[in-house]
Formats: sequence, structure tokens, C-alpha cells
Amino acid sequence: MKIGILGGTFDPVHNGHIEIAMAAMAALGLDQVALMPSGDPPHKTRATDKLDRLRMAELAAEGRPGLYASDLEIRRQGRTYTVDTLSTLAVEHPEVEWTYILGADALNKLDTWKEFPRIARLCAFAAVSRPGCDEDLARLRAGAINSCYHTRVDLLPVSGPALSSTAVRRRVAEGLPIDDCVPGPVADYIRGKGLYLCKYSEAQILDRLKGMLTWHRFTHTLGVADTAQRLAPNCGVDPLRARLAGLLHDCAKSMPLDEMRELVVKNLPDIDAEELDTRAILHAPAGMVMARDVFGVRDAAILSAIRKHTVGDGQMSPMDALIYVSDFIEPGREPFPGLEKARMLAEKDIYRAMVCCTQLTAKHLKSQGKHVHPRSQALLDHYDK
Ligand code: ATP
Ligand code: MG
Repeated sequence: MKIGILGGTFDPVHNGHIEIAMAAMAALGLDQVALMPSGDPPHKTRATDKLDRLRMAELAAEGRPGLYASDLEIRRQGRTYTVDTLSTLAVEHPEVEWTYILGADALNKLDTWKEFPRIARLCAFAAVSRPGCDEDLARLRAGAINSCYHTRVDLLPVSGPALSSTAVRRRVAEGLPIDDCVPGPVADYIRGKGLYLCKYSEAQILDRLKGMLTWHRFTHTLGVADTAQRLAPNCGVDPLRARLAGLLHDCAKSMPLDEMRELVVKNLPDIDAEELDTRAILHAPAGMVMARDVFGVRDAAILSAIRKHTVGDGQMSPMDALIYVSDFIEPGREPFPGLEKARMLAEKDIYRAMVCCTQLTAKHLKSQGKHVHPRSQALLDHYDK
């Protein structure tokens, strides 16, 4: 029996992986190919849980004869080495001839893998070209490894598509469709779990926020995230994107004012003097910059909602309105006149709730002799019909 192994991070698995696995199966007459996601390194920095990477590999293999996902490396604690994997497999399945499949980009470092001479006795290699890969160089590398280690590295006459997990992660983060890049069930899984919206998992975000915000502000943040996520479907907004915007909307709130000013002036040169002057307003643009640069958020709708959550704007997208209102009405808010009306409107029409919240703020400001920010006024002029 001949089995191929396509190892990788698979963060996430994509059509290129499937294409090269199926092409290698056909070209080499393999009975099966295992997609084998690597385990987590000891000091894990990646946001994606290894079980998510495995589940996506399983979904990708479903309905493709001969293709399966192997949890061998995911199950092992700590760093996983190919030499350990192949040694285990050789003992458990002595009848199988193993071929390790890889992109030709991986040939450069192949013989630096731990205990490579031993690996070379346990399997053969099949390399598939990849856009951007120098094929002559790959041929030279393959020849050098073959003669040095008496192994078999075949270069298959196959090239994978111009696709990488990095590109898929970037597309998700930017809110672009990924349906042409990964199998349908994998795209649904990514959307369903909100993967790749940010550099960090929710647990990692919460850990960071706990260190950055007061307890009161942290609790408020959770209230806003829960409210935004719950109301999102009524507003035609993706609930997990809304949750992320809610989680990060106040991320700059505890920053010293001077630092906040410096950060905003450097990144948003069009900021107006009034915004720069007021901490209660300035944390919104500062939060947007932090969400982008510290948390790696690339989704323009999320960044805009964070940017506009304090004073609003003459143009508010459904996501902008949702975060603005959720901030106002989250369950932890101390009761004040008008709050219940805003809450009731939010269940029915996010834009009416948004106008109600702005009117309440304007009234409160006027009662204190303060003036209404021009962008809040622009919001009322545009939406208070
Ligand atoms: P990342 O962008 O995160 O590095 P990736 O797309 O390279 O992800 P990996 O999980 O790192 O995916 O790759 C697993 C294996 O699949 C590697 O041997 C890699 O060279 C190969 N591979 C991935 N994409 C392609 C492709 N489009 N064409 C050919 N080989 C590919
Ligand atoms: Mg790679």
C-alpha cells in the first residue's frame, strides 16, 4: 500500500493543498493521501486552535476519495517533528510505503529537518512546483539531496495554484470572499467561528484587554460585545464581526491622554482640534489605530465602527450604528431617563435607536452648557427625519 503525507500548518487548509494532494495521488499511484496538520509549537503564538486546523482539514477531505485528515501530530504534546511522526507510522504500518509531499518552496530547507538522514530512510519525497518558485533551483536541490542522502526526491510535473494560507487569512481579515480559495464547508467553518478576523483569538484578546482596562471598563466592553452580537442579525451585520468591534471599541480608553494624542496625530492627520482636546472622544480614533496596529484588524467596517462610536457621523453604516447604539444601551449601563426607550428601539430599528441615543446625548450636553459635536449634529441632520 502506498500513502502520501501532506504536512503543513493548514491555517487554514486551502484549494492549493487539495489540488497538490490529489495531483500527487494520481501521478504517483498512491492509494491515499493524509492531510496532516502540525501540532502547536511549545510557546504558541498562533490564534488558531489546533483542533480548528484539524477540523478544517477533515472538512476539506470529506467527499474526496483517498484523501483523509490525520490527527497524529495534533495529538502529540509540544513541538512535532516529522522524524517522530514517520518513525511511529513505520512501526504501526510496516506494510506501507510512505511518500512525503511538499511544495517546492520547502525543498530549500528540507535537509535541515531534525534527523533528516533518518527521515530519508523512512519515506520518499514528492515536490510540487509553486508559483514564484524557481524550478531549476528546485531541480538542483532535489538532485543534491538525492545524491547526498540516497533518498528519492521526485519533482512532479505539477504546479499548485497561486494561493497560500497567508492570502486566505488576509482576505478574511479584509472582509473579502474566500469561496474560491477554500472548499465550501471550510469557508462556512471559518465564517461560523469568526476565524482570522484579528491576529488574536477571543481568549487572547480578553487577556490583553484585562491588562489594559479597568475592571469596570472591561465589564462594559463585554456588555457591548454581547449586545452587538445579539442585535447584529437584525441589522444585516455579521455577528462575529460585530462582536469583535464591540470587544475592541474601548481598547484605547485607559491610555494616557498625551500618548493618545501622539498616536492619533501620527496616524490620522485629518483629526480636528476638538477631537484632540477631549479624552471622552479621542479614545475612539485612538482605539481604531490600536485595533488596526496592535490587534491586526483589517476589516474597514469594524475599524470605522470603532472610529465613530463616540460622536457618530453624518454617514453611519449598519455596523457603525450597531456599535454606537450597543455602547449606549449595554445591560451594565446605570439607568438614566430615555435608556429604556433606546433599548426598545434597538430591538426594532437600529437607526431609530441611534437617533434616540444622539438626541439624549445632545440634551444632556446642552443641560450642562456644553455644545454638541458637529459630527453628532450631522448625524441628527441626516438621520432624524
Ligand atoms: P502559509 O501561507 O501560512 O505559509 P501555505 O499556503 O504555505 O501557508 P502550509 O500549511 O504552510 O500552507 O503548506 C503545507 C504544504 O503545502 C507545504 O509543503 C507547502 O509548500 C505546500 N503548498 C501550500 N500551498 C501550495 C500551493 N499553492 N502550491 C504548491 N504547494 C503548496
Ligand atoms: Mg507555507
